[in-house]
Amino acid sequence: MAIVFCMLSQEQIEKMRKKLEEEKEYLEGEINKLDKPTFFGNDVDAGDERTDEDQEYQNQMGLEADFKTQLADVNDALERIDKGIYGICEKCGKEIEPEVLETEPESRLCEKCKK
Ligand SMILES: [Zn+2]
Repeated sequence: MAIVFCMLSQEQIEKMRKKLEEEKEYLEGEINKLDKPTFFGNDVDAGDERTDEDQEYQNQMGLEADFKTQLADVNDALERIDKGIYGICEKCGKEIEPEVLETEPESRLCEKCKK
């Protein structure tokens, strides 16, 4: 197995891990909120509101799907930290720019491959 030289210092990686864990907590909280069925109330008799609620329901579902995708990325990034391959681009195998990781710690691709 080839040893991958990693530009990120242990300290930077720990910082990213913390960021990711915070994000994970936030996303899990949001998903839990959206999962609650009581969110939409029980007023089945309101005819006009019905469509609004359906629309809102659709929005919530979309939002929840987004959160879940993000959460999967965050979990994946945490796993890569554990494996010691964090910060490596999945496409070209090069290091992801620290600036990219700074703004998007769960990023799997370097700046070039994202384009
Ligand atoms: Zn790349």
